[in-house]
Amino acid sequence: MAVEISYRREFAFEYGRLEPVAPGVRRIVARNPGPFTFKGTGTYVVGEGEVAVIDPGPDLAEHIAALMASLADEQVTHILVTHTHRDHSPAAKALKQATGAPTYGFGPHAGGNRGEPGVEEGGDWDFGPDIVVRDGDRIEGGKWRFEAVHTPGHTSNHLCFALPDPGILFSGDHVMGWSTSVIAPPDGDMAAYMASLDKLLARRDSVFWPTHGPAINEPQLHVRAFIAHRREREAGIIECLKSGVETIEAMVERLYIGLNPALRRAAGRSVLAHLIDLSGRDIVAADGPPTADAHFRLRHPPRQG
Ligand SMILES: [Zn+2]
Repeated sequence: MAVEISYRREFAFEYGRLEPVAPGVRRIVARNPGPFTFKGTGTYVVGEGEVAVIDPGPDLAEHIAALMASLADEQVTHILVTHTHRDHSPAAKALKQATGAPTYGFGPHAGGNRGEPGVEEGGDWDFGPDIVVRDGDRIEGGKWRFEAVHTPGHTSNHLCFALPDPGILFSGDHVMGWSTSVIAPPDGDMAAYMASLDKLLARRDSVFWPTHGPAINEPQLHVRAFIAHRREREAGIIECLKSGVETIEAMVERLYIGLNPALRRAAGRSVLAHLIDLSGRDIVAADGPPTADAHFRLRHPPRQG
C-alpha cells in the first residue's frame, strides 16, 4: 500500500513583506518560485532589535532590498545559513556587507569539492562561513539561543537550527511540508539523509519551519511519513531489479507515475541516490561505478520458487 504523506501547501504570504509568523519569528519570501522552491525562499528573522537572519536567500536585488528596508531600525547580529544552495546562501554576501554581521554555516558547498553540477538550484560555490558551526553548537544573541543540528543528506553541509525554547526547528530543505527533499548525488547522500531523519525523530521539537512553504505542526508524524516513503521507494527499486529493470531511466518510468516532466532529472538523481545507498549496503551491484548511466542488478537474488 502506498505511503500517504499529508503535504502542507496552504501558504499565506505576500512577496517582499516581512511578516510575523510566530512569537519572535518573522519571514519574508523571495520571488523565486519554481519546481524546487515552491513559492520562493522564506528568509526568517528571529528576535527583535538584535536579530538573526536565517537563509538570506538568492542573489535577488529586490529581496535583499526589501529585507534590509524591513530591518532598517534593527541590528542584524547573526547570519545563519542552513546550506549552500543558490536559493539559500548567496544573499548572505550583501547582507553581511550592509550589516557587518558574521555568517554561520557548516562549511563550503560539498566541502569545496567541485563535482558535477546538481539538478536543483545548484551549489553556491562562493559561500564560506565566517564561523564554522558543528552539530550541537550553541549560537546566542539578543534574547534567543540556537542549537545547531547537523543534518546531512540533501547536502553534506546541511544544518537545522533549533530554538529549544519554544521548541521551534528551522528545518531548511531537510524536511519541508510542501514536498520531499531532493537527494542528488554526489553531494546528496541517501544513507546520510535517512540517518538525519532518524536524528530529528529522536528530538522533541514541536514545530518545524522549513525554508520553503508553511510550518509543519506535527513534525514527528511528517518525518515518519518521509521515512516510510523512502523505504517504499527503495522496495520499488528492488522490485524493478527483480523484474529485470536495470537502468535508472526505466526505473523512473515505472516508479514515478504522472511525474511533472520538470522533475524527471531530479527523480533520476533520487533513484541513483537509493542505488548508491543499496550498493554501499551490498544489496545491489553495478556494472562499474554506480553512476546515472550504469546498469544495476541485485547482488544476492533471492531464490525464485
Ligand atoms: Zn537546497
